[in-house]
Amino acid sequence: MLHVVGNACLDTTFRLARHPRAGETLNAESASRDYGGKGLNQAVAAVRSGAETMFWTAVGVDAAGDDIAALIEIEFADLASITRLPHATDQSAILVSVEDGDNRIVTAAACAETYDPLVMTDLATRLRPGDILLMQGNLSTERTIACLEAARRAGARALLNPSPIATMAAMPLALVDVLVLNRPEAEALTGESDPARAGQELIKRGAGSVVITLGAAGVIHVTAAGSMSVEASSVEAVDTSGAGDVFCGVLAGLMAQGRTIGDSLPFAATAASMSVQRPGTHASCPSRTELRELLD
Ligand code: ATP
Repeated sequence: MLHVVGNACLDTTFRLARHPRAGETLNAESASRDYGGKGLNQAVAAVRSGAETMFWTAVGVDAAGDDIAALIEIEFADLASITRLPHATDQSAILVSVEDGDNRIVTAAACAETYDPLVMTDLATRLRPGDILLMQGNLSTERTIACLEAARRAGARALLNPSPIATMAAMPLALVDVLVLNRPEAEALTGESDPARAGQELIKRGAGSVVITLGAAGVIHVTAAGSMSVEASSVEAVDTSGAGDVFCGVLAGLMAQGRTIGDSLPFAATAASMSVQRPGTHASCPSRTELRELLD
């Protein structure tokens, strides 16, 4: 069983001729909504890869929370792991200026900030030996550490995608079996621009092994014994946002189905390459059918 613990939100993107000035109201050229949150994106990719997946998250008691709950019911056929909190559901407003492509983003994240999976849910008793726990950096550091400790006590393996990395300074990497991060994050944490050396440094700090994604250059898996590279498929990238989430979700999903990291990496990289050929974040995740065909 795979347990993905993380945030879920609704993103609304407004495309404008230019950004508004103080006090000014502008009509957008277009507006679109998409599901988001690294937790939700990764959990959806994982369940579509065929893994038996529980997605532990919190949303508000409002229309946005109902929308996310409806998506979760479709993807996971199980609402038992959603907590409803007395806050607005986490959401972002993304303003994109068509003039210069510049983004301005405002987020409300009260649900992720206050969600305490071990207190609010029965996650601890659901974690079993051999299970996999996948987390990101959106919940509080303290609660993320508590979940990693619960996984260790239960004999489950923990994968951590520490994004955003602001939460990483206090993270005891000895609780992390597989650390998955992108190249800029690895460099920011270690000061090493060479991914193999950055990976070795993170292993010295306690991580079991380290997977570093390198965008169009693929991915490198670093263990204490050495490193292995996997190339990305050569594709025309339209929008790379969300590629890292598809990668993490499919990697954890395949490991939860009994594959080794080495076997899983090429599939996770190919699934992520499929997502960069389409616009959107959640919207660009490959479907169940596409992932089944990839894995057959
Ligand atoms: P995100 O944009 O979601 O934050 P990220 O920075 O976390 O992504 P990347 O390293 O950019 O992660 O990409 C994750 C994986 O997606 C890569 O390892 C690769 O397999 C695939 N990928 C990303 N960009 C491309 C690309 N231009 N062509 C092919 N594959 C790609």
